[in-house]
Amino acid sequence: MAEKTLELNSKITELKGFGPKKAALLEKLGLFRLADMLYYYPRGYEDRRNVKQISELGNEERALVRARVLLVSPGRGFGRKRTLRLLTEDDSGRMEVLFFSAGYMLKAFKQGQEYYFLGKVKNENGRRTMFHPAFYSSEEGSEGGIQPLYSLCRGITQKDLRKLSKAALSVSEGLSETLPDSVIEKAKLCGLSYALSNIHYPEDEARYSEARYRLIYEELFDLKMAVLLSQDRFGSGREGQPIESDGAGIFVKSLPYRLTGAQQRCLKAVLGDMASDKAMNRLVQGDVGSGKTAVAEAALCQAAKAGFQGAFMAPTELLAQQHFETLSRDLTPLGFTVDLISGSLSAKERRIALERLRTGETQIAVGTHALISEGVEFYKLGLVITDEQHRFGVNQRKSLAGKGENPDVLVMTATPIPRTLALVLYGDLDVSVIDEMPPGRTPIITKKFCEEERRKAYKELLDEVKKGRQAYIVAPFIEDSEAIDGHSAEGLYEDFQREHKDVSCGLVHGAMDQKEKDAVMASFYRGEISVLISTVVIEVGINVPNASVMLIENSERFGLAQLHQLRGRVGRGEYQSYCLLVLGEDPGEIAVERADIMVSTNDGFVIADKDLEMRGPGEMLGYRQHGLPQLVLADLSKHIKVAQKAGLDAQELMESDPGLHAPENYMLIKTIKERYLETDALIL
Ligand code: ADP
Ligand code: MG
Repeated sequence: MAEKTLELNSKITELKGFGPKKAALLEKLGLFRLADMLYYYPRGYEDRRNVKQISELGNEERALVRARVLLVSPGRGFGRKRTLRLLTEDDSGRMEVLFFSAGYMLKAFKQGQEYYFLGKVKNENGRRTMFHPAFYSSEEGSEGGIQPLYSLCRGITQKDLRKLSKAALSVSEGLSETLPDSVIEKAKLCGLSYALSNIHYPEDEARYSEARYRLIYEELFDLKMAVLLSQDRFGSGREGQPIESDGAGIFVKSLPYRLTGAQQRCLKAVLGDMASDKAMNRLVQGDVGSGKTAVAEAALCQAAKAGFQGAFMAPTELLAQQHFETLSRDLTPLGFTVDLISGSLSAKERRIALERLRTGETQIAVGTHALISEGVEFYKLGLVITDEQHRFGVNQRKSLAGKGENPDVLVMTATPIPRTLALVLYGDLDVSVIDEMPPGRTPIITKKFCEEERRKAYKELLDEVKKGRQAYIVAPFIEDSEAIDGHSAEGLYEDFQREHKDVSCGLVHGAMDQKEKDAVMASFYRGEISVLISTVVIEVGINVPNASVMLIENSERFGLAQLHQLRGRVGRGEYQSYCLLVLGEDPGEIAVERADIMVSTNDGFVIADKDLEMRGPGEMLGYRQHGLPQLVLADLSKHIKVAQKAGLDAQELMESDPGLHAPENYMLIKTIKERYLETDALIL
């Protein structure tokens, strides 16, 4: 069969050696077409430019060697403490390679196979030993130069991805430049093809830096541009209706407690925005449990009393249900009508609910995105509040806002966002921070365990369950795999069921569909399940006051912000709560330090600052925490200067061509639309 001419748009299966099986695996990595590979950047590189002969190696020299493994001999000792010794050889001589605490890599080497070893050599009278080198199989390709190292999944090798990236680059002449010439010139950037070619296969350090700078700049430029464009379309600074009444005051007086100073300040700002004739566009940031809901309720009452409807949106059915319960409990006695519009209403219930919304009988509507689905009409929508806003995309929020006459918009989040990030992202969005906890909370006790102490951690968890409490167990992965070192939710679920037949447990992870997830969450919520085993999908918002233990497996794999979010799932009721961090094997210094920070403080803002401080190179999780998958190379905590520059350049371009209609900006607007505006990627 003649091979088709490849082009960027070609499916990966059109490439020789890539059948449907491999293609299915590659899809998991987000790779469907050759063009996707261009943007699948390496996570690191192997520098093969300077391979040394073994016989040339001097004492204490750091060098790269390509050698065949003659003998693999595990040393004495048990488990991971075991040493591993290799005898290797190249054309010039022999060398020993020694690994300590290498129990986990006994199977990494095959006798007779060639590997590259990079490390420091000890040379004692010609007897050469390399200690703990970085290594990789030369089966992965034997070309020299700087070779990319990609993130893999099971069944896919570096060789596969290198083949793909080469194929993609070889047809990349067809790629159009995405940035306008004026920007490229002004910011002194290299061209796109050059950048992509050198990010995958850098010819040298200088070209790599140029390539990387260009790609980072572009990510940040596009992000800022998307923010500007969507703010424009979203209409910030837009005219609004002044909303004033005594509703908030009535609500606050009805509370069994006094608002904290921070809540009062925040509410004052919100009410001020509502009263003004500009539409509100405010973000409220407050740690889990800081009492954001009360502020939201006050604002909703203010709107309702002024004759406007309010909408309160949550990211999941379960959270919407929870909010509905809270709001009904608090606001119905004050004479407000609160309704839940949810996907689980029957057709008849839904018809009635929609009718009530349309006629204005419903003053406060709670729901998920079902609230903004077609066919939902409001009588007089004045205020829109979204909880845990990072789950909503721009389009969703816009479409809800579109249902009223420029309603006031309030977004609430528990994810502490570093200031620099907020500046770049939100531009002219007003931000309020609730930086004070309601009094009388019993602080959560956080403990750190090493792998050997896992049982101890589980004993603490089971003790709580015996007392009638509920518990979460969180794992970094969905399923077990050879390629990864760490616990998976499925694996733990099986183990737990087998070992604790008397404890009811449930499983939730991201590969389940939303309905299944909701069902399991709901039965945990109702107390039918005692132990919920999951991936980080439970991170957002679930509120089960009876849950008192959060056990996190392989806690080294989570960033600080994420750990803090997870911990916030407990300590929401009257019970003393615990967060148990179980570190895996060889967690690394930074992970231990993170665990220590978690043990030492419960303050989300302290943690956010530490997080920013600590996040250094090699921390893969960092950028994902902010829900911005578009930022691949760019890191807002590190590339602040570039972010500022790209931001200013974007602003300038936007002023010279509002809406980006000029022909030279065509590719730019097209890219931004694809990456941001037509997806729900942007978290405004
Ligand atoms: P958040 O949404 O910020 O995570 P919530 O609004 O759910 O937090 O508040 C957590 C708990 O604290 C709720 O049970 C709420 O009733 C209570 N609460 C809120 N504000 C105060 C306050 N000022 N004093 C005492 N308790 C409060
Ligand atoms: Mg909340």
